[in-house]
Amino acid sequence: FSNISCETRASNDKPIYKNSNIDVQDRVRDLMSRMTLEEKVAQMAQFVGLEHMKKAEEDLSPEELHNNDALGFYPGLHSSDIAKMTEEGKIGSFLHVISAEEANKLQGLAMHSRLKIPLLIGIDAIHGNGLNYGATIYPTPIGVASTWEENLSYRVGEESAKEMRATGSHWAFTPNIDIARDARWGRVGETFGEDPYLVGNMGVEMIKGFQQGDFTGNEKVIACAKHLIGGGEPLNGTNASPLDLSMRSIREVHLPPYRRAVQEANVFSIMTAHNEVNGIPCHNSKEFMTDIVRDEYGFDGFYVSDWMDIERIHTLHGQAENLDDAFRSSVNNGMDMHMHGPKFSASIISAVREGIVPEARVNEACSKILEVKFRLGLFENPYVDEKKADEVVFNQQHQATSLEIARKSIVLLKNDGILPLKKGQHKKIFLTGPNADNETILGDWTWYQPQDRIITVKEGLEAVSKDKGFKLDYYNSGEVIGKTTDKAIKEAALRAAKADLAVVVVGENSMRWDWKNKTCGENTDRAHIDLPGRQLELIKAIKKTGTPVLAVLVNGRPIGEEWLENNVSGILEAWEPGTFGGQAITEILFGDVNPTAKLPITVPRTVGQVKLYYNHKPSHYFHKYKFTNKDPLYAFGYGLSYTKYTTDNIAVNKTSIKGDGTFTVSCDVSNIGKVDGEETVQVYIRDDYSSVTRPVKELKAYRKINLNAGETKSVTFDLSTQDLAFFNQEMEWGVEKGMFTIMVGSSSRDKDLKSVKLEVSETKKLELN
Ligand code: BGC
Repeated sequence: FSNISCETRASNDKPIYKNSNIDVQDRVRDLMSRMTLEEKVAQMAQFVGLEHMKKAEEDLSPEELHNNDALGFYPGLHSSDIAKMTEEGKIGSFLHVISAEEANKLQGLAMHSRLKIPLLIGIDAIHGNGLNYGATIYPTPIGVASTWEENLSYRVGEESAKEMRATGSHWAFTPNIDIARDARWGRVGETFGEDPYLVGNMGVEMIKGFQQGDFTGNEKVIACAKHLIGGGEPLNGTNASPLDLSMRSIREVHLPPYRRAVQEANVFSIMTAHNEVNGIPCHNSKEFMTDIVRDEYGFDGFYVSDWMDIERIHTLHGQAENLDDAFRSSVNNGMDMHMHGPKFSASIISAVREGIVPEARVNEACSKILEVKFRLGLFENPYVDEKKADEVVFNQQHQATSLEIARKSIVLLKNDGILPLKKGQHKKIFLTGPNADNETILGDWTWYQPQDRIITVKEGLEAVSKDKGFKLDYYNSGEVIGKTTDKAIKEAALRAAKADLAVVVVGENSMRWDWKNKTCGENTDRAHIDLPGRQLELIKAIKKTGTPVLAVLVNGRPIGEEWLENNVSGILEAWEPGTFGGQAITEILFGDVNPTAKLPITVPRTVGQVKLYYNHKPSHYFHKYKFTNKDPLYAFGYGLSYTKYTTDNIAVNKTSIKGDGTFTVSCDVSNIGKVDGEETVQVYIRDDYSSVTRPVKELKAYRKINLNAGETKSVTFDLSTQDLAFFNQEMEWGVEKGMFTIMVGSSSRDKDLKSVKLEVSETKKLELN
């Protein structure tokens, strides 16, 4: 490309790329023709925001700053260098810019560069734009998935996008569509759980909510499906550990949400995974980035690396002998943007000059990134109106959505009949537990938030105590880990004894800034899945007083604590319910809201059962454990309500279908209890005999339906042989002839399902869709 002076051209007639009436692809081409190699590579370079960097410089010694691989800061690189590089046009993108002011400042620096190309700003808006102060925090994705209502996932995307744009960010590093198959893994809470179909539905809708089609305009952002691939099934439960799994399982379990994100939602960016798969670090995998997702699925956006992970191809995996090799092979294998770090650009520029990386690869990457900037309207206006941000952030509509999702995301796991609490029934309620009155209800990926924008359980109960006729006695007995003394446990028991009900809010702590005390969240994995610290001791001491105990769990990963199931009167799994968590929990305790949520993930009894997931192979539990039940503590799809439902008259409209046939499953669902509610009817299938072993059941359809007390509704599900297909021995997608079992009911447990048979009369290869 010749280096035409854009200043000269601009003074004669407006360059094509500056004309918003011209087609985006033409604008991209025009701008590219004016860019030097250095400027194009700069678009592929992302750096962390200046405030973030300055905070790290303040908090950490130079040694800690530069020797900490996880933090990823480099010797000699300071926030002032990054500012200068932005002015020089050496940076195309930032991550974690924490306010509208900071975003404007950075865009202002970029406007000093030769071509004045605006910056693309990305942020981990995982459940609301929680790294920005005062944002609406929605329940974490595991809670959103517990609603089994994907339109709610759409709304989280749509509203978060508005809050992001109002504060200067354009790119959400979400949804996390990893399949979470290991309860030890600290990131379970930021996923939609363990089922490929449910995860796919939630992910697709969230992307649509963020991107709204082609993301043109100033209220939309691009989404990022992450992490390609398999990070949710780490070998030992620790983040980034390897995955060794057959390609059949990877294609059937881990890849489907990505295929759908690309084909159904046109996701415009994908982040690769920390881990290696079958010997190849994902950041260096041509197979996943290029062959499968780009070429086979038709991905049309760009790849971004995860923090430090291209470097780790060399420093951790030992798959490249030096950093240059790592950067270059990653780009050659399909990587388009490097997340944070100074060494990438120089390495790629010289590699192009030496013929190691084709310039066409840089052009491909750069043009995709520019396309986004044009579509988002950043060339017309890179700035945001700082004064107007408050009109959008935490507005009434967003608050209402957050509360609605919280109400629908809390799973009633156990109820011996004590719930819902009745007005005036309990004169004194004792409340304690580490998560009763703090920010842990917000979950991971939130930064310091204003106290007046959080409703804790204590505040939720206080607000209704007069109306519901009870006195609240709250006692702070300590934290999830640390600082729970013998004295505190004793005091809690003494006070519980004087109450007629104890509500104990326990679980985990995923707070990002509470680095030393957090027990869950990114890079906070555990070798156990019980209640950490002295929480169980606390509950046992309270239980001993004879006062009935209700346990409320606030946690980002499944808690396998069998003692609770056997000993307390009721258990709510609240996950991390966000800004209005305390209100939603209170409403459920008092029956103002009838719980409807169902688990999107299996809860094991003990860590020894891990990996435990419902769609396992027939031999997974052929033999039993010596002392432990093989069944989960709570099954995938399980969740109680204050009414009772039955599912009857299950039928399939045909007894036999052809290899490309369709069929309809129907059933009658009744609310046979005394209160109105909503039930989620679930349809699972099993191939009875097949050339490759198949899971004992797989979710293929579900529907949430409203049922008044005493009401019955008929429900139908339209399915096809696509829902019965799998990858055969030759790795071809298709259906095999034979009998199939169709199961319908209220959870994945055998005892909650009724079944019918369907015959497929021929074996047929199908188009993967
Ligand atoms: C995480 C990503 C995240 C990135 C930027 C990484 O450590 O794995 O999911 O988007 O950091 O914060």
